Amino acid sequence: MSDQTQETIVVDGLALAQDIRKQLSEEVAKYAAAGKRVPCLAVVLVGDDPASASYIKGKQRACSQVGMEAIERHLPASSSEQDVLLVVQELNLDDSVDGILVQLPLPKGIDPNTIAAAIDPAKDVDALHPNTAGKLLLGTPTLAACTPLGAMEILDRYGIEIEGANAVVIGRSNIVGKPVSLMLQSKNATVTMCHSKTRNLKEICQQADILVAAVGVPRLVKADWVKPGAAVIDVGVSNIDGKLVGDVDTDGVLGIARIVTPHRRGVGPMTITMLLRNTLTAYRDRTGE
Ligand code: NAP
Repeated sequence: MSDQTQETIVVDGLALAQDIRKQLSEEVAKYAAAGKRVPCLAVVLVGDDPASASYIKGKQRACSQVGMEAIERHLPASSSEQDVLLVVQELNLDDSVDGILVQLPLPKGIDPNTIAAAIDPAKDVDALHPNTAGKLLLGTPTLAACTPLGAMEILDRYGIEIEGANAVVIGRSNIVGKPVSLMLQSKNATVTMCHSKTRNLKEICQQADILVAAVGVPRLVKADWVKPGAAVIDVGVSNIDGKLVGDVDTDGVLGIARIVTPHRRGVGPMTITMLLRNTLTAYRDRTGE
């Protein structure tokens, strides 16, 4: 029998994402009504990986939903690093393009860091350029990684106090773990970053007022890892026999956590929404509109 201590709010990331997309579309509509060009995202796909193609389509669809333009550059899987760099350079020079996203993973032989470093930082809506990462570290205003931005937006919209909180982040990737740790720290949380070599992970998690899991290990975080009243953000997505599973035992933490993001309709819809917001931000910064 479960010893339920409090009602847990299951975050509705889709509703939140739709709410923000509505605001974004109103802002984009103002530019269109004034006869100005609308923000434009360029997505680069190399090869024919079905999952990547589907992600790209989702991003393009999201752009058109909010009235933004989306263009696609599709290169064959046989492309060289130089081929991809040339496309990035062309998009850098195209004044009608505000954001550039190169879909990962790239085929073997193409270094994603080299490609990221070639993107104009002013158009770096996926926040992978070293300048962008460096600015986040220094605390200077910058475009920032979309999934961490989405996680922060969820904490904000659900009224989670960050200042002074013990935040534990499991995972230290450049795309999620590191940036979300920096964002939490910049909001005055005391942040512990954990990874595959961390000892006593369970005990560290038990101290967390805010627990972010960005690992990719199905249901790593068990109910007894979670402090009563904690905010639990589950970023992880694993595919187990065709079924998507998160890093957190979501059902197990019901009645313990204050909020928890489900692995579907949680952080995911917020990630694309933050990409749209980054594209609008890049447009404004570039055009001065
Ligand atoms: P990643 O680059 O593979 O990093 C995983 C991190 O987890 C690494 O830092 C690794 O530690 C750590 N780790 C692995 N096993 C661990 C364990 N048993 N205990 C503690 N730490 C462990 O992954 P990522 O790109 O950050 O993505 C993480 C997860 O989020 C994946 O499931 C991904 O699919 C998902 N994701 C979801 C979204 C979304 O929009 N919902 C967006 C991005 C990613 P080491 O550094 O020591 O190797």
